[in-house]
Amino acid sequence: MSVTCEHCEAKKWKGEAPGMCCNRGKVQLPRLIDPPEPLRTLDSAESPMSKHFLTNIRRYNSCFQMTSFGTTKEIRESGYMPTFKVQGQVYHRIRSLYPLPNEETKFL
Ligand SMILES: [Zn+2]
Repeated sequence: MSVTCEHCEAKKWKGEAPGMCCNRGKVQLPRLIDPPEPLRTLDSAESPMSKHFLTNIRRYNSCFQMTSFGTTKEIRESGYMPTFKVQGQVYHRIRSLYPLPNEETKFL
């Protein structure tokens, strides 16, 4: 990704169409906000823990495959072509990795 869009600073591959990211500055999205802690620190690559996290990020990401999906608002449309839409924030719902007292292990 050696090309940077002069309008939105998107990193692009050489040969990608100039308007593919922001339509040559016509579409303006708000800046991404910094991730919350502890993700910000883990993403910094400044500590041994962060370097371990980034080196093994696919493994950590795989942990979320076993979570439940949640969202701020779901829209389900039935009919010939059933459609599932999401509005707002997407969540991974996961409970404690350790069982609660008097419960059996359920997650991961
Ligand atoms: Zn752009």
